[in-house]
Amino acid sequence: MAGPGSTDARTTVVGVMGYPVRHSLSPLLHNAAFAALGLNWVSVAFEVAGGRAAAALDGMRALGVAGLSVTMPHKADVAAAVDECSAVARQLGAVNCVLNRDGRLYGDNTDGAGFVASLDRAAHFDPAGKQCLIIGAGGAARAVTLALADAGAASVTVVNRTAARAVDVAALAGRVGRVGETGAGVVALVAAAELVVNATPVGMEGSGAAGDGWLIAPSVLHAGQVVADLVYAPRPTPWLAAAAQAGATTVDGLGMLVHQASAQLELWTGLPAPVDVMWQAAVAVA
Ligand code: NAP
Repeated sequence: MAGPGSTDARTTVVGVMGYPVRHSLSPLLHNAAFAALGLNWVSVAFEVAGGRAAAALDGMRALGVAGLSVTMPHKADVAAAVDECSAVARQLGAVNCVLNRDGRLYGDNTDGAGFVASLDRAAHFDPAGKQCLIIGAGGAARAVTLALADAGAASVTVVNRTAARAVDVAALAGRVGRVGETGAGVVALVAAAELVVNATPVGMEGSGAAGDGWLIAPSVLHAGQVVADLVYAPRPTPWLAAAAQAGATTVDGLGMLVHQASAQLELWTGLPAPVDVMWQAAVAVA
């Protein structure tokens, strides 16, 4: 068997597929976990151009790649190209994790579960019975909205720059889904919310989305609330720095990143993930 950090002819290969992908922390987190578990597995990055996801999955079958973490721009294309999807991946129309079962590909989505796990880890926050407010209506907001509703939230209100997209996302939460108005009315929404989540790239390092271009002014956040940001660079983000200033309990996006990756590893290996090891690997480079 290969020693720590080395590979041999028996090494099981998994990878992250995306474009661009060279910035991805997935291989780092998964390789730290494989080493801690003493597994002869390795994770690498596969740079796959948009529109090539189905071809890449054929390659996965042919080469016997055991698992894939899937990121932009492939999540929807992979959902359409795998042989079977989990209920969550089907509802989202997006796959972030593929498991190769003897050539039959199973797609799942661990983003939402990863977010809910991060709330527990950072704030001991259980969404059951809680009023939740999501800012943003992209892929990440969709996963978070569905997961909060599945976790028993009393309401999940979605506020977005483009209102029509908020309607679609709120629908994922079924009878607890709501669409929130932007503008003056949002202050009352924030006042009532027990959880407020930034699911936009505003404040993200290098995104070009200015850290002060908020749909909701952070000055209306308050103590007693849990405030989360899916953005994880810089640490803290401007949103979380302002939330902490307002006295709120903060949950940073690194937790979601680690927990969605740990759930992927559990799907691939069938073993409990060494979450603390993965967390340390992430913090070391974030
Ligand atoms: P996306 O699909 O591109 O959606 C972006 C959302 O943000 C859209 O609703 C968009 O509004 C809104 N938005 C973008 N720029 C804005 C601005 N300047 N002002 C107000 N709203 C703006 O992106 P995504 O995949 O959902 O990702 C969102 C963020 O979450 C990214 O920063 C990403 O890095 C982060 N993320 C983190 C994790 C993690 O593990 N921590 C996982 C996934 C994503 P419109 O609809 O009006 O365009």
